[in-house]
Amino acid sequence: MKISVDREACYGSGDCAYRVPSVFTVVDGLGAVLPGREDSGDDPQVREAAERCPSRAIDIDVGIGE
Ligand code: SF4
Repeated sequence: MKISVDREACYGSGDCAYRVPSVFTVVDGLGAVLPGREDSGDDPQVREAAERCPSRAIDIDVGIGE
């Protein structure tokens, strides 16, 4: 499952990088997915980070049909 950060919605709280530093980071003051970790959407920690993102900027694509 692909994860992505909507940089329009993100305001750079850094919560995601704090919660799951193996997947998220902060680039130019905004949350970002580390290169190569875009497929980590089935990780429960990633799901929790998405649910707790204060601006709901983390999208997990369930990849229906993949
Ligand atoms: S938790 Fe959400 S608002 Fe905060 S840096 Fe991550 S994506 Fe951006």
